[in-house]
Amino acid sequence: MIPFELARPRSLTEAIALLDPEDPDIRPMGGGTAVMLMMKAGVLRPTRLVSLRDVEPEYAQVGIGNNGELQIGGLTRLATLEHSPLVKEGWPLLARTLRTLSNVRVRNVATIGGNLAHADPHMDMPPVLSSLGARVTIQGPNGERTVPVEQLCTGYYETVLARDELISRVIVPPQAGRPAAYMKVTTRASHDWPALGVAVVLDMQGAAIRQASVIVGAATDRPTRLTEAEALLRGAEPSDEKTLRHAGEAGAAQLDIVGDSHGTASYKKQLLKVYLGRAVRTALAAVNSRGTAFEGHA
Ligand SMILES: Cc1cc2nc3c(=O)[nH]c(=O)nc-3n(C[C@H](O)[C@H](O)[C@H](O)COP(=O)(O)OP(=O)(O)OC[C@H]3O[C@@H](n4cnc5c(N)ncnc54)[C@H](O)[C@@H]3O)c2cc1C
Repeated sequence: MIPFELARPRSLTEAIALLDPEDPDIRPMGGGTAVMLMMKAGVLRPTRLVSLRDVEPEYAQVGIGNNGELQIGGLTRLATLEHSPLVKEGWPLLARTLRTLSNVRVRNVATIGGNLAHADPHMDMPPVLSSLGARVTIQGPNGERTVPVEQLCTGYYETVLARDELISRVIVPPQAGRPAAYMKVTTRASHDWPALGVAVVLDMQGAAIRQASVIVGAATDRPTRLTEAEALLRGAEPSDEKTLRHAGEAGAAQLDIVGDSHGTASYKKQLLKVYLGRAVRTALAAVNSRGTAFEGHA
């Protein structure tokens, strides 16, 4: 391994000052779970890693803002989120998703900021947070800006983040009891990387769907909103099998799905056709038995 400097700033401002907008070999590090894998694989040879571990503790905390939104510090560990009573109570979709995100060793150190900044299209949290309308606060040398999670990823491992910007906070609107489900379809263990991930959040009006938010992950280079499927679901009754099937087909037709080591493009297409309707049904069924649902294997 080529020697590198490990900086341990005590504040977020200091951390930002240690980054360099022009130098890709200087990188921030949250939990380091992805950074270490990239270094082992030889795709990252940093000259300086800026550890965020010692910055102000407020960036590793979970709370609720005045307007009822969930405020997650960018340095919050995934395990902290998973076990937060606030999250379990108000955002069961997040708590359930986290349970099969990788394994407990990774969740104990990985941070939500690192998770979102990594921008691997197979990640579970970006589609789920996007379906809930979450946004990130990004801090840089000239202040902060806010970006919807849905617009954060721009391609394979690429985001709108400049090299000297950090995700300092994630803000999630209330789930407010809305039926929601994340279908993580894996071909091996339930906590493996997904072959496909489908996140669905429903606004109901009586027995009909007033509005559906549908985001798919692990299908293309970034999490994608299935607008055609959403349009078909608007006004539909979840018991209407035909519409659910059409929505799945429309979703599969909308995307130029890319195959990978977890499944071919045609396999993923078939999964999407089946799992979109299943996600809607699962979300609704879970409301009766409290909260949010989640499912596993293909
Ligand atoms: C064995 C294994 C299995 C896994 N399985 C899954 C899975 O099933 N589903 C899934 O979704 N994920 C999975 N992952 C990925 C895991 O979720 C990520 O590695 C982790 O969330 C990254 O968080 P981190 O804090 O460790 O990031 P780091 O490794 O510290 O950083 C990742 C990237 O983000 C940058 N970065 C870090 N923090 C910030 C910040 N605050 N602001 C801006 N940029 C930042 C870094 O420079 C780097 O480019 C798996 C990982 C492993 C090792």
